[in-house]
Parts: sequence; C-alpha cells; structure tokens
Amino acid sequence: MDIIIGGGITGLSYAMYNAQGEYLIIEKETELGGYCRTLRRNGFVWDFSGHFFHFQDAGIKELLMCGLESENQVVKVEKDTKIKYKDRYVDFPFQKNIHQLPKDEFIDCLVDLFDVRETESHNFKEMLYCKFGKSIAEKFLIPYNEKLYACDLNSLDKDAMGRFFPYAEKEEIIKNFRVKDNSSYNGSFVYPKNGAIEYVNNICRRLDINKFKTNASVVSIDPNKKEVVIDTGEVLAYDRLISTVPFPKLLNLCGLNYNESVYNWNQVLVFNMGFDKKGPNTTSHWIYYPDKKICFYRVGFYDNILQQDRTSLYVELGFDKNADIDPDKWLAPVLHDLKEVGCITDDMRLVDYQSLIMDPAYVHITEQSQKDVKEKKALLAKYDIYSIGRYGSWTYCSIEDNIKEAKGLSETLRLHDGEDNQYNCSNL
Ligand SMILES: Cc1cc2nc3c(=O)[nH]c(=O)nc-3n(C[C@H](O)[C@H](O)[C@H](O)COP(=O)(O)OP(=O)(O)OC[C@H]3O[C@@H](n4cnc5c(N)ncnc54)[C@H](O)[C@@H]3O)c2cc1C
Repeated sequence: MDIIIGGGITGLSYAMYNAQGEYLIIEKETELGGYCRTLRRNGFVWDFSGHFFHFQDAGIKELLMCGLESENQVVKVEKDTKIKYKDRYVDFPFQKNIHQLPKDEFIDCLVDLFDVRETESHNFKEMLYCKFGKSIAEKFLIPYNEKLYACDLNSLDKDAMGRFFPYAEKEEIIKNFRVKDNSSYNGSFVYPKNGAIEYVNNICRRLDINKFKTNASVVSIDPNKKEVVIDTGEVLAYDRLISTVPFPKLLNLCGLNYNESVYNWNQVLVFNMGFDKKGPNTTSHWIYYPDKKICFYRVGFYDNILQQDRTSLYVELGFDKNADIDPDKWLAPVLHDLKEVGCITDDMRLVDYQSLIMDPAYVHITEQSQKDVKEKKALLAKYDIYSIGRYGSWTYCSIEDNIKEAKGLSETLRLHDGEDNQYNCSNL
C-alpha cells in the first residue's frame, strides 16, 4: 500500500493518478486541500492567498475544470497588475515599463540598463544588477523581493524564481515603450467563482473517501520497518511512502541528520478582508508595493476579479522563518497602510476578515539546498520514500507543476510495477 502524507493538491493528485492502486492519504487538518483551501463567509470568497491559474497543459486543465466551465462557475480574466511607485502606478513588470517613470528616473534606468555588461552572477541580487542595471534593481526589484522573501537576496540562488521571474531583454524593453506587451506566464488566468477549493473538489470526486484519514498528523517514520506513527499512536505499515510535507520536516520525521542552515524560507501573513462597499480601485487584480514604509508587499482584489460590488482583498506580508508573528498586532498597521496607498477610504467599514500564516510560503532556493534535496531524495528512494510537491521538492512552482510531478511519479512507479496508468476525464 502507498501511504501519502498530506492531502494538498500534490498528495491528492498522486492518489488520483494512482486510483487503481491501494493508498491511504493522511492529512493533519480537518479539511483537504492544503494551501488550495477556500473560506466562503458573509458573501466573500477567500483563498489562503490569491490562487490564480494559468494552465499550460490541456489535459490538466480539462481534469480540474471538468464541469466548472459548462456550469458557468469560473471567471476568465486578462490580468491587470500594477506597481505602486512613489506617487504613481507603473505597469508590471517594472523593467519593461520604466518609460512610465518621471523623466529623470527613466533616464537613470535606461542609461544603467545600457551600461550592463552581462557577467556571470552568483546569487539573486547579483543577477538583478547584472541583468537590469543599478537603477531598475534598486528602485523596484531589490526592495520588492526583500519585502517578499524577508532575507538578504545575496543568499538566494540566481535562479531562485525559475520561470516565474519576468526576465526581459533590452530589445523587448525598448519595444515596450511604443507597443505595450506585458505578456507573461500568467497574462490571463482563470478562477473558480467559489475559490481554489473547487479544483480540489474536482480531484476529490475521483477518489475513494474511505482512503482518507484527516485530523491525523504523522509524527514519525521508520524507514527500515516501513512504518509511520500518527499522533493517535496508531502505527501504519506501507510499501511506499509519498510525502508532500516540507522536505526538512520529512528529514526530521525520518530521524535523518542534516545541516539545518541549508534550509531557509519565509512566512507569509495573509489578511483576507471584506468591506461594506466598493473602494476607489475598480480595475486592478493585484498591486505590488516596493516601498518599505508600507507593511505589505502585495494586495489583491478579489472583488475586481469576481466582479463583486463590495471590496474583498487579500493582503500579504513577508516575514523571516523564525519570526513570531502575532496577526492581531498587524491588523491596525495593515488598515492604516491600505488607506495610505489608496486601496480603501475612511468611509469604508471592515465587515469581516480572516488572518492566516503560510509557513513555509516561499522557500529560499540555493545551490546548497538544491544539492542537498537531490542527494537526500535519492537516499530516501532506496527506502521507498518519495518526496514531492512545492515543499516536498523544496522549490518554487505552481499547482500545475505539482500535478505534473505527482503524475510523473505515479507513472514511474506504476511502470516499475509493470502496470499501465492512464487517467483522464473519460475514465470517470
Ligand atoms: C503566497 C502564495 C501564493 C500562491 N499563488 C499561487 C497561484 O496563484 N497559482 C498557483 O498555481 N500556485 C500558487 N501558489 C503555489 C501553490 O499554493 C502550491 O504549489 C500548492 O498549493 C502546493 O501544494 P502541495 O500539496 O504540494 O503542498 P501543501 O498545500 O502545503 O500540502 C501539504 C499538506 O500536508 C499536510 N501536512 C503537513 N505536515 C503533515 C503531517 N505531519 N501529517 C499529515 N499531514 C501533514 C498539510 O496540512 C497540507 O495539507 C502560491 C503559493 C503561495 C505561498
């Protein structure tokens, strides 16, 4: 039997692709979905943090959207995102829209961009200087990412954001001055009207409810005996263990020694906030805030995405992994800064809110972390333990990537077992 630790999108996807096999999903929370859960309350629809979907794989899209489109349950949106830079808004990505800055700052950015001599960079901060020059780096890319990652950017790998980083060549930047082309991996996106949990529900419909154990936390793993212990004291035997918990946590559960300093990450405090009326901003989907005097780094507008008549926001604040976050302490500063930047006005009343902490949120990808994960994954595989998912693989990725990884592992293991494994909507 396969035991799957974690009922987030990765664990559920693995089970779905392994539907004919024997499996048990162990999830510590009452509800399945992990970071793709949704809270619906007082007419507001809030995810753990803004979760928008830009599928590249038609098969995965079909699986997750099964039924939703025909029932008019999703919105399709052309992305409208901005950066609040001093007194104005600049289109995202900053590096392609420097012509929207005051003239002197535009010239600084342009001259520095032309001065760059692309040399090899050794970390994320160096990459930003090497690729875009001093002014673009220091006006937006560095302060914004320092707020998000809550760390010195020198400590991150130059490819810490992989394909999610909006690279732009000089030629593209210049062309954008005349003909706007801010296309990116998520230039348009879809979003279920009832939140990200709809995708989770679509996967769960294909699974056997008798194969879930919720409210159960795995507290230790014995790789030699092939047993997991859960917090009730129950001991469960497995043939294969699929883990989606954060990688260093898996190493702890297995009792493996590792260098803790290799694994770093940030925490994100999210406020989902619903107000009694529409605010001044009626078009943006999310806005980036590089200004360090403002406590949050990004604000998203569910009401503009879902065409609602009351402001519904998600507000994200970045913290170090060791920070002891008291959400109550942050409510007043968040409301103050939302007014300061013009997202809300004095006459708007907060009807309802929810705060939650994503820990980990963004892992700090470094050469060392990549090497260590690879080595330790290979070691664990010898004991039939496979670690996958955004946190199981200790990486930066989307839910589509999680589903692909789960599918890939399931296929590899089935192939090993000599079974065929084809899953699509028509199997339902
Ligand atoms: C701020 C933010 C915004 C994002 N926005 C997007 C977006 O717009 N689009 C997109 O595609 N992706 C987005 N993502 C990424 C997306 O959230 C993840 O890729 C995805 O949710 C990861 O799923 P997972 O199953 O790998 O991990 P998780 O969702 O973390 O699931 C792991 C599960 O394991 C459980 N667990 C942990 N420990 C134990 C234990 N000991 N025993 C039992 N269960 C345990 C947890 O409770 C959890 O349910 C975003 C991520 C963040 C942080």
